[in-house]
Amino acid sequence: MKVSVDPDVCYGSGDCGIRVPTVFALVDGYGTVLPGREGAGDEPEVQEAADWCPSQAIRFSE
Ligand code: SF4
Repeated sequence: MKVSVDPDVCYGSGDCGIRVPTVFALVDGYGTVLPGREGAGDEPEVQEAADWCPSQAIRFSE
């Protein structure tokens, strides 16, 4: 499953990058998925980061 961050919803709390630094990072003040890690959506810690995202900006797709 693919993971992404909706830039229109993210407000840059940085929580995702702190929780899962191997997948997320704060770039220009917004959460983003690191290049090459877009397929990490099935990883439990990524799902957890989505649950904890204060703006529910982390998206999943097939
Ligand atoms: S946890 Fe959510 S609001 Fe915070 S930087 Fe990540 S995607 Fe954005």
